[in-house]
Amino acid sequence: MRSRPPRSMVLPRIVVTGPGVLEQLPAVIAELDLPERGLIVCDPTTLKIAGRQVNEYLEIGGHQMKKIVIEGANSQELLRVEDALDDIDFLVGVGGGRPIDLAKQAGFNKNIPFVSIPTAASHDGFGSARSSIWQAGRKTSMQAIPPIAVVADTTIISRAPSRLLAAGVGDIVSNQTAVLDWRLSKDGGDYSEYAAALSEMAAKLVVDGIEKVAEGGEEGVRLVVKALISSGVAMSIAGSSRPASGGEHKFSHWLDANSKTPALHGEQCGLGSIVTMYLHRGDWHKIRDTLKAVKAPVTARGLGIEEDVVLSALINSKEIRPHRLTILDKTEPKAIEEAALVTGVIG
Ligand SMILES: [Zn+2]
Repeated sequence: MRSRPPRSMVLPRIVVTGPGVLEQLPAVIAELDLPERGLIVCDPTTLKIAGRQVNEYLEIGGHQMKKIVIEGANSQELLRVEDALDDIDFLVGVGGGRPIDLAKQAGFNKNIPFVSIPTAASHDGFGSARSSIWQAGRKTSMQAIPPIAVVADTTIISRAPSRLLAAGVGDIVSNQTAVLDWRLSKDGGDYSEYAAALSEMAAKLVVDGIEKVAEGGEEGVRLVVKALISSGVAMSIAGSSRPASGGEHKFSHWLDANSKTPALHGEQCGLGSIVTMYLHRGDWHKIRDTLKAVKAPVTARGLGIEEDVVLSALINSKEIRPHRLTILDKTEPKAIEEAALVTGVIG
């Protein structure tokens, strides 16, 4: 594993977003001047959606390509991807979270650049430098590398189930509370006004354009995709996930670790954000209305998780990354319960 120099910023060199942009992949690869041999990481679904097309474009571009079809983002699959990297010069993650998480982490561990090709806009992972991998029964968030390029074809992404886009909205609105938590924690030199502003602006653009997003068309999808990319850039600028990950993310991580039926990452973070915005005395109604507009869950029942488990997650989220101080860490259990009741998340 490598570590980067302190206070450095590593950002994607090329970001292409729009309808049909997958066609531009050969030009992107040529511009990056990547060496010859590449490995495509996909799962059975994303292989059909875009993986084969990506392979074809790259082979036409003169690259020798291999493919690996993964089953999940866990440590065994990570080793399988790493074992396939002999003689490989670059990685292409086609996903969905899991293939992109594995490509990103394998690229980091083996010092190989990776290109991100998202097929859904369900969270900000496709443009960020953090990966989420299951290890010994726990989902672990790890430092990885940001993609060298992101090619986000919004025609492909708009064909994904609407639940995934709604989850992406949840992940992006949660930037607002993440930034409030970041300011609250007064993490000394770690706070970046610029990263915080970018993260908040990304959320604001989606909140303001939520009617367009709710239509499910390409234009609304593009709005969410761009916001999620900006979120990844904000994290790269900060050199940490703080601009897009506060108490609502700790709540989601607690559910991933302890609920038998966790929901999607963005669904959990969006819902958590309603409660933490209430605790910050901010406009929690607006967060709830934004989520409702795209039919994202705003109650424990909508999330498909028992109310007592959701309440435990809110109260015990302080167990997750305890050094990361958020409003949930600073609030008494009784007040957290009241917030969950007043906002209608439980009860
Ligand atoms: Zn997130």
